[in-house]
Amino acid sequence: MSKRGKNKVKVVKAKASKTKKGSKTRARKAHARDELALRKAVAATALAMSRSGLSPGRSGNVSARFGGGMLITPTGLAYEDIGPKDIVFVNADGSVPGKQRQPSSEWQFHLAAYRARPDMGAVVHTHSMHAVVLACAGRSIPAFHYMVAVSGNSDIPVIPYATFGSEKLANTVASGLADRRACLMAHHGAIALGETLPEALELAHEIEVLAEQYTKVLAIGPPAVLPESEMQIVIEQFKHYGQKALS
Ligand SMILES: [Zn+2]
Repeated sequence: MSKRGKNKVKVVKAKASKTKKGSKTRARKAHARDELALRKAVAATALAMSRSGLSPGRSGNVSARFGGGMLITPTGLAYEDIGPKDIVFVNADGSVPGKQRQPSSEWQFHLAAYRARPDMGAVVHTHSMHAVVLACAGRSIPAFHYMVAVSGNSDIPVIPYATFGSEKLANTVASGLADRRACLMAHHGAIALGETLPEALELAHEIEVLAEQYTKVLAIGPPAVLPESEMQIVIEQFKHYGQKALS
């Protein structure tokens, strides 16, 4: 090859690596933009949860699946004070890279929920009043109303108690959510999943509404419950048309 030809090859190679570098930089920038948008969305969802009175004080937490792990609200900060930078990225193995705030003490069951439900992208956990009342009384929510099907199943069970933040609780959450999108947690609260943050928050609200309604039904007397065959029809309808079309 002539000297000129060699130089040409070098130039082409240099151009190719520049293009590669350029697309890598673009991908990194897009990733950073997505991350910032999601950090803002997690903080906004947590604030909306708190302001609506769904979870008192600093209780409850919110996360979204991201980059092989998740972005989750930090521990110890009031929701009014949480900004996008305070949201913590946690790897799938539970490690927290770099210098970040400490994640919510309940991060383990968030990760467990994502492992159990690869189809879900967001988790909202609350200590909402009526969900807690039923969870403390050990009362699962049966099909007293057709809207119970928003959970993706014909009831909303109470999963067994385990210490907050423990691996045992993460395991019980994972098994409770294997075939539904929401559960009550004994002596603790409620957990709701969504493909997106707004979906998870809406479901958390819906679970609280159902818990309040069911608590009132219980005060009158033993509830009438819809047959399983009817609930299966509703669950199917929800799958095809979405809950809004029917409610
Ligand atoms: Zn909690």
